[in-house]
Parts: sequence; structure tokens; C-alpha cells
Amino acid sequence: MKIRARKFDGRCSRHKRYNPAVDGPGAIRGACPRCSLLFEIWEASLRLNKLIRGFNPNHDDLERPMEKAPAVDPRQMSLIGD
Ligand SMILES: [Zn+2]
Repeated sequence: MKIRARKFDGRCSRHKRYNPAVDGPGAIRGACPRCSLLFEIWEASLRLNKLIRGFNPNHDDLERPMEKAPAVDPRQMSLIGD
């Protein structure tokens, strides 16, 4: 089975600034069907990614987020306190 990763650049012509990933369902104006569909597509893509990862945890379907810098060592904090 092969699923192609695709970049979907959908946009509502009436609400060009609506971005489901950022704005969420609460930002859909007047129950706009196009915006609602965009949100559903976004949700479905998240679900698809989750399902694929559940099936194969090593599947790398997204760029991995940068590793966070290690938190400040608490021992150093106590030194500063002195
Ligand atoms: Zn819209």
C-alpha cells in the first residue's frame, strides 16, 4: 500500500486568512461550509498521520521537530541562588 504525501494548499475564497491548523474550528465564520471542510481535511490528515504512526512507529511522515535544548540544570540554579 502506498500513500503519497501531498501538500494541500486549500483556502476558503471568502476567508482567505482562515487556517484550520492555527485558528481551529472556533474561528469559522457563520458556519462557512468551505472553512468547515478545510477544518475537516486538517483533522483527517492528523488522524491519518496518527494511524500510520500507530501501525509503524518508525514511519517518518513529517519533519521531526527540533530537539529542545536541555532545560537549565537545577543544580546550577541553586548555585546562582547563593
Ligand atoms: Zn470560509
